Amino acid sequence: MSLENLARRYGTPLYVYSGGHMLSRLGMFEIAFAAVPHLVCYAVKANSTLGILQLFARRGAGFDVVSGGELERVLAVDRRAVGRTVFSGIGKTAAEMDLALRAGILQFNVESEGELELLAERAAKLRKRARIALRVNPDVFAETHPYISTGMREHKFGIDIRRARAVYRRAGKHLDPSGVSVHIGSQIRSAEPFGAAAERVANLVVELRRDGHAIRYVDAGGGLGIEYDADKPFDAQEQVRRYASALVPVVRKLGGVTLLLEPGRFLVAQAGALLTRVLYVKKNGTKNFVIVDAAMNDLIRPALYQAHHQIVPVGPGRGKRTIVADVVGPVCETGDFFARDRKLPVVAPGELLAILDTGAYGMVLASNYNSRPRAAEVLVDGRGAHVIRRRETIADLLAAERRKMPRRAPR
Ligand SMILES: *Cc1c(COP(=O)(O)O)cnc(C)c1O
Repeated sequence: MSLENLARRYGTPLYVYSGGHMLSRLGMFEIAFAAVPHLVCYAVKANSTLGILQLFARRGAGFDVVSGGELERVLAVDRRAVGRTVFSGIGKTAAEMDLALRAGILQFNVESEGELELLAERAAKLRKRARIALRVNPDVFAETHPYISTGMREHKFGIDIRRARAVYRRAGKHLDPSGVSVHIGSQIRSAEPFGAAAERVANLVVELRRDGHAIRYVDAGGGLGIEYDADKPFDAQEQVRRYASALVPVVRKLGGVTLLLEPGRFLVAQAGALLTRVLYVKKNGTKNFVIVDAAMNDLIRPALYQAHHQIVPVGPGRGKRTIVADVVGPVCETGDFFARDRKLPVVAPGELLAILDTGAYGMVLASNYNSRPRAAEVLVDGRGAHVIRRRETIADLLAAERRKMPRRAPR
């Protein structure tokens, strides 16, 4: 598939995804975890576009949602997939709980005692019984960016694992304590912290069973990382294999549980590229700037997490000459950059660049800052290229706003 042709047909900035790549990543999970009963619940927040959810739903995947809006997306794609959906998040509202109770989701991952009480109340009111897992905080340190580390006592997520038994005991008759869940963070590259967290969860499951709870699910969360640096070796299959070998023995030893997995980034990040055209090349003092038509409103990861993304010219390039430049967008913020002091092939206005590995936490974090309409998204599969989200228009942006305020009454 020619990216230059896609960019000409649909304009830039443009997100392009490979469906085959996403499904091959899902397949790696299926193979690696074949030894235990398991369900992959794709973390919708990584990329929630309906076309992508549909791709995973058709392969039998479940979903991990963190809001009523994400649950509505799953409902819009496949009503039956709701039975394979878990609901995480520390701030569920009564309305979101009602939506999930009525839809009949697989499990609520409960993150506080207050939430447990409210959920029991809502379930009683709707005459439902909600399957719950407490999201425990295992106090495990995982090496990652501080904004996406979540598994330590001082983080806002989950319930201290040492208090979990007491909280499970308080689940009334409208709650069915069916699982234990954990999620220690994102972009975690080593299998070791996952294993350590799973061990702590398994010990808790043994205690809970002794207390009389029929625990059938262990939700190991998501967080498996990828390699964004093209100069470093990365074997995705091997990464999943190591991850599975940290979790599978723990689950096997427990017995009688289905392992729930919530990968987001790992399934979609490397299937996506953000295409952008060079607008200008300029020099300020000694610094070179390549100004492109995508900006931080399209992809905020470099500004938010100091994330590294490889940037490559799509065309044949103009020989071996290179420059060192900042690749920046048109937004009026110094933080609006995709790369700093990056060695790049020499590029000229009009050339197309691809910002790689942007399938996860790219479009979902896009905004309309500077009144920039959000990019279009194209999904490529065996049958061709499909627009799964059209480019936003200025009219879309203005539609929710009031145009005319009443004038002040004349004196
Ligand atoms: C964000 C999140 C995930 C997915 O994390 P990835 O790093 O994208 O795999 C899974 N579960 C929960 C509860 C999350 O908050």
